[in-house]
Amino acid sequence: MYVPEKISPKIRSKIMSSIKSKNTRPEIAVRRLLWKSGKRYRIHDSTVAGNPDISNKRRKIAIFVDGCFWHGCNKCYVSPKTNIAYWDEKIIRNAKRRTNVLRSLLKENWAVVQIWEHEIKEDQESVLQKIELAWQNS
Ligand SMILES: [Zn+2]
Repeated sequence: MYVPEKISPKIRSKIMSSIKSKNTRPEIAVRRLLWKSGKRYRIHDSTVAGNPDISNKRRKIAIFVDGCFWHGCNKCYVSPKTNIAYWDEKIIRNAKRRTNVLRSLLKENWAVVQIWEHEIKEDQESVLQKIELAWQNS
């Protein structure tokens, strides 16, 4: 008998909530870093292309804090053991959507900073430096 591999709804919703939701742990960590260093920003501003996790319209700077799984990080992404096609397709779609967002932001002279989840876990100081560099130049 053929039994298709399926992720149970419970596990699926757990995965979805850990990778897709707003206000994820790495996102909050970045916000805290910025706030502490006196930078002010909006979160998920719907008037900015791609609703960046963090943005400052006056400075035209957009910061995306990306989950390593959800955004297919080169360093961390591993295809799930089940439903590989489903997940890979989703990740690729996310990447394409992101590319379009980047393109329109750059066209309007925005500075865009991408922070990976693993960077936050590894070295918050260099994350802040990366953002500061863009912040000062914008
Ligand atoms: Zn990563």
